[in-house]
Amino acid sequence: MIPPNGTIGILGGGQLGRMTALAAAALGYKSHIFCPDPESPAKHVTRFFTTAAYDDRAALERFAAAVDVITFEFENVPAETAEFLATLKPVRPGAAVLRITQDRLREKNFLRSINVATTDYREVTDPASLAVAVRELGLPAVLKTVRMGYDGKGQVKIATDGDLDARWAEMGAEVGILEGFVDFACEISVIVARGASGGGAAYQPVENQHAHHILDTTIAPARIAPEIAMRAEAIARHVTEKLDVVGLLAVEMFVKPDGQVLVNELAARPHNSGHWTLDACTTSQFEQLVRAVCGLPLGSPEPHSDAVMKNLVGADVEKWREALGEPNAKLHLYGKEKARPGRKMGHVARLFPRRKES
Ligand code: AMP
Repeated sequence: MIPPNGTIGILGGGQLGRMTALAAAALGYKSHIFCPDPESPAKHVTRFFTTAAYDDRAALERFAAAVDVITFEFENVPAETAEFLATLKPVRPGAAVLRITQDRLREKNFLRSINVATTDYREVTDPASLAVAVRELGLPAVLKTVRMGYDGKGQVKIATDGDLDARWAEMGAEVGILEGFVDFACEISVIVARGASGGGAAYQPVENQHAHHILDTTIAPARIAPEIAMRAEAIARHVTEKLDVVGLLAVEMFVKPDGQVLVNELAARPHNSGHWTLDACTTSQFEQLVRAVCGLPLGSPEPHSDAVMKNLVGADVEKWREALGEPNAKLHLYGKEKARPGRKMGHVARLFPRRKES
């Protein structure tokens, strides 16, 4: 157990690290951010940070010496970095979790190995294997990079088998995964917090709507039947246990029109679809991460309000003034100076009285 006044090392310096550092501060912890980018949102809220590459061993050693426990807010931290740090200080969740969740193929193979349903998929390594996979899975299908894809980057929808060479080139990586296209009724996610001694706290399933492949709106709770919500939560808890996550696991799922639930993606870190918990729950996902990695008891994931979280992407950030004028809206800005298209600049959570007891 790392008691308050300890220091949490965070790999990655984006808004997820920033909000984790703020939650850590509220519980009396210090945060030390390790991030190659000198101007990162998390570094604005703590005076302890290291600006260095993820493979800079000397910098990693100094970082490890300065902290009590290490976690990450960025999925694409090299697994080797986490493995090296784990020889020096506890890394939670562990490097093995990072290795699986940062690779779409390993992730789906793992889900299948623990009997969790996903859409059908095939590994593809060139246009010829893509053609075979298209024949086997049928169309439409989605071609994705195995590594480093997020917010729809490295993702190509294939509707006809006319020009597979061009689609392969468009994806732009050496290894890909072809997935059967899921004609879903809605997309949901469940975030589970789990401590070192097991025992998880799951947030209620929420509904996620995307615009241009980027999360636009999260509706909490999801507008799904109670039995689907229970199944989604059970799946998320099962994956968290089997992955042996100490920290947070966000499980993104598709709900099909017939009620079947398929897991799309995992993220072993705070998740954009959990930002509503900052304002609508006693314990936010960020506080839960701090509690889990420090060995404190987990907090209650129960919401006190319903919420609709809207991301402020790119020029949407200009809506901050309007949000300040709404009595039920809570504004969060991430301190990013340039509002590039597609860049997450902040979010607004709008709170409503609870519709139902979950
Ligand atoms: P991902 O990066 O895998 O989370 O994909 C981003 C978004 O693209 C998802 O949230 C879905 O809206 C859509 N998407 C991804 N994979 C599929 C699929 N196999 N079928 C239908 N839509 C998908």
